[in-house]
Amino acid sequence: MNTAKPGMSPLTEPGAAKIRLLDLSPEEIGAFLSDWGERPYRAEQLTGWIFRKAAASWGEMTDIAAKTRARLARTYDIAPVLTPLLLTESQDQTKKIVWQLSDGTKTESVLIPERDHVTLCLSSQVGCGLGCRFCRTGDMGFKRNLTQGEILGQVFGAKKFLSPDQNLTNLVFMGMGEPLLNPESTVKSLAVLTSPKFLAFSGRHISLSTAGVVPEIYRMGALGLDFGLTVSLGAPTDELRDGLMPINRRYPLKELKRALKAYPLKKGRRITIAYVLLKDVNDGPHEALELSRFLTGLKTKINLIPFNPWSGAPYDRPKEETILKFQKILRDKYHTVIIRRSKGRDIAGACGQLAGQA
Ligand code: SF4
Repeated sequence: MNTAKPGMSPLTEPGAAKIRLLDLSPEEIGAFLSDWGERPYRAEQLTGWIFRKAAASWGEMTDIAAKTRARLARTYDIAPVLTPLLLTESQDQTKKIVWQLSDGTKTESVLIPERDHVTLCLSSQVGCGLGCRFCRTGDMGFKRNLTQGEILGQVFGAKKFLSPDQNLTNLVFMGMGEPLLNPESTVKSLAVLTSPKFLAFSGRHISLSTAGVVPEIYRMGALGLDFGLTVSLGAPTDELRDGLMPINRRYPLKELKRALKAYPLKKGRRITIAYVLLKDVNDGPHEALELSRFLTGLKTKINLIPFNPWSGAPYDRPKEETILKFQKILRDKYHTVIIRRSKGRDIAGACGQLAGQA
């Protein structure tokens, strides 16, 4: 990955790969422009072109002197960082986009239309190394982290697939990968996504999903960034979770609960608990009561996600009556519980189905 340290002017050898501006933070861009002797407004102009207008050519930047643009072009690259390889549209209008990255690997995003807005499900990695047994991405293994530019590029690229009456307002980091194992790019991209100067997404409308990387939950909490936290739980006991989500052997439920308890929630917010329901594995009354017990003392709401099958998956989707019974047990214990009917199941674009393929 090409990056520049703040305050340093990156040098490129003749023939060396150029540095992608979308991979730098606004501060890093400001720092090298300052080293060049440019006035502060130049950084405002350039970062606006990169992070707000997603400029794809130097020619567009008409308010920047041609001489400066030529100098920028010698070292820096603004070509799109990912190319849409395949677009599949579901019967429910969900769109799955497979992106080709510059090193030949692939990642995916999913545009999910809701009643009055659109949600984009973003990836943070190519593949995932955590190997949750119910997840197709986990089945493909870890290839690499995405850069800041590749995360932001999904937002810019996906916007092109919206129809004129659609409004992209919500982002969920629930595509491929574990965002808290790619914290640098995730945090840097969040800063751009929520900045009023750039993409101005509301933190209320951004959710980051983790399988429970405990040290990073503490670290994210300490950073005080504005986003919603979702925890993929999968099972309410260590015995069951160890088998479904190998990360639990590293960070067992007791440690996870301690981290969630310490997580500084903004006023009126709750942690979302995503619980994938697997037939005859974790969908019984006993597990519902154990789940309630685990959540006691935490400010949470529960999303039940009936398993979305994929080819070769070792699990099935529970029957509707089982799902409703599970929900009722939790509601009777005064939990807020929503059954998430994942969209895009027919195009392998639903929760847990992404694998960089059609
Ligand atoms: S559920 Fe999330 S963390 Fe688990 S394997 Fe899938 S992508 Fe990785």
